[in-house]
Amino acid sequence: MRVLITGAAGFLGSHLCDRFLREGHTVVGLDNFLTGHPDNIAHLIGHERFSFVRHNISEFTYLAGALDGVLHFASPASPVDYLEMPIQTLKVGSLGTHNALGIALAKGARFLLASTSEVYGDPLEHPQAESYWGNVNPIGPRGCYDEAKRFAEAMTMAYHRAQSVDTRIVRIFNTYGPRMRPGDGRVVSNFIVQALQGAPLTVYGDGSQTRSFCYVEDEVEGIYRLFGSSETMPVNIGNPNEFTVRLLAELVVELTGSSSPIISHPLPTDDPKVRRPDITRARRILGWEPTIQLRDGLVRTIEYFRGLKGSARMQPPT
Ligand code: UDP
Repeated sequence: MRVLITGAAGFLGSHLCDRFLREGHTVVGLDNFLTGHPDNIAHLIGHERFSFVRHNISEFTYLAGALDGVLHFASPASPVDYLEMPIQTLKVGSLGTHNALGIALAKGARFLLASTSEVYGDPLEHPQAESYWGNVNPIGPRGCYDEAKRFAEAMTMAYHRAQSVDTRIVRIFNTYGPRMRPGDGRVVSNFIVQALQGAPLTVYGDGSQTRSFCYVEDEVEGIYRLFGSSETMPVNIGNPNEFTVRLLAELVVELTGSSSPIISHPLPTDDPKVRRPDITRARRILGWEPTIQLRDGLVRTIEYFRGLKGSARMQPPT
């Protein structure tokens, strides 16, 4: 297959490029480096089945040649990023998704949308199954991301129903691992960078809010299987093991051997209180479930950030 991956220089996008190349496919990577980084794909430059286009998918996009797949992973995805860039976030979820679907339609390619657990907002149903419609504040600060992804899902289903595009929707839950940006602002990267730098770990609120963290290798496996399946309804791909943010902070301190204290910062507006995927559908349809425990995944991620120490990329976390 020849596939287009938007957001190819991002955390998930770059791991997906690796995965498709490893399976023998040809990959066209597209990114405008808004939040992606050239380092994430540096190892692919010169690969005979990889090519790269520096472009913003929210603008009109022309790509020559046949395509069998379009995987739309371009978007700011960390709350810090989308709060800073709400308009770009809304544009890539709406115009970017429209353009990516247009390419899929023109090429007769299968389309996969990277959606998110944020479509469930601050959920009133726990754990979250795909049948849950969510509890999103459209005008709150997170609305730009949540609603962009909800619109993207609606657009994907419209192309599926009205234009017969062969579509897939993955709802991605908190994923972590190597290639997260040190200054990305998400909890795993923040805590690890803080611990390695001897800075206080910033727990927002009282740390009793929960998340369920999926190691990137597991996440990519689930996405790859979904792409190859015939399921056109959304599928949650995430790790159902749920932890409080405080427990995560304690675990990072322990695993890094850091002497950093854990301090409290104000809780951001509309921060979801709980989050855990119901992965019954993924188990049934894809035979998929995560295999990497948080402790093991964190050890690997800490290794990655240790390797960045001293480099220009290792700025203090936001
Ligand atoms: N969080 C925290 N300290 C940080 C960054 C995040 O306590 O330095 C909390 C945040 O308030 C949220 C959880 O960790 O409850 C996960 O935040 P993240 O930004 O990783 O992603 P989210 O799941 O909110 O999209």
